[in-house]
Amino acid sequence: MPELPEVQTIVSDLRKKILGGKITGFWTNTPKIIKGVALNKFRKEILGFLILDIRRRGKNILFYLGKIQKGKRKIEKVILAHQKMTGHFLIGKWKVVGKGKSQKIIPLIKGPIAEDPFNQYIRVIFNLSGGWQLGLSDLRKFAKLTVGSVEEIENSKEMRSLGPEALSSEFSWRYLYPLLLKKKKSIKSVLLDQEIVAGVGNIYADEALFLAKIHPQKNASTLKIDQVKKLVQAIKKVLRKSIALRGTSIIDYRDAFGRRGGYDKVCLVYGREGLPCPSCSTPIKRIKIGQRSAHFCPRCQKQ
Ligand SMILES: [Zn+2]
Repeated sequence: MPELPEVQTIVSDLRKKILGGKITGFWTNTPKIIKGVALNKFRKEILGFLILDIRRRGKNILFYLGKIQKGKRKIEKVILAHQKMTGHFLIGKWKVVGKGKSQKIIPLIKGPIAEDPFNQYIRVIFNLSGGWQLGLSDLRKFAKLTVGSVEEIENSKEMRSLGPEALSSEFSWRYLYPLLLKKKKSIKSVLLDQEIVAGVGNIYADEALFLAKIHPQKNASTLKIDQVKKLVQAIKKVLRKSIALRGTSIIDYRDAFGRRGGYDKVCLVYGREGLPCPSCSTPIKRIKIGQRSAHFCPRCQKQ
């Protein structure tokens, strides 16, 4: 799933390319991606509006739509997008040919969007003024799009329940330590909880726990203050490093131009089962915690 660095990379790309564009058309072959409103209503709500701002909150993308009246920007509504497991927005140009099962979506520009198979699962296309289209490629079709007023979206339960942004000053050991004392489960599962900290997922939780030398199964309530300090620093460090490298593309994630990120080439433990630990050469282990896997060094990260 795209985590904070991947979503941030896409948001930065989108801001550069499509900010200010007007939504002139909307197409989907996967109506279930639209949540909370009927497809026709969704279309009606967004057509003719300008994309005035694009922001990230946790792993969500918010497209602020509005109009310019007498030279002033007036934001009226928000499209809330969650790319979920395999979704990623792409800026490109496509042509939809045929109907029903034989329908084909043909990329019109050469390069990664046309060549990389993970960019070929186009489920949604927004036509934009200026000629670009905003596509959503999503192999597994779990992505979600909804639209509402700024108030409705920003105050939705989904948004309000999010914890502080992992890279904000609000996310500190002073915030985290007292919360962990109440959590009688593994530190890995606590870090994946978006209500505790927004934006961290499986990859960067594993990477940060390795840097902080904490076993992923360690009971969160037993961590010492010094360990929590190290952990918070480690989380910020791996996220910043990955943003600089434009995210991790172990399987399906691609940036808004369809290109792979660079963090997977420098992963310390994630996806490295059986390979030597970067600090002590012990083979990296992979275990299951709940439904998710965790990668760690059994020597550097003692339980
Ligand atoms: Zn090690």
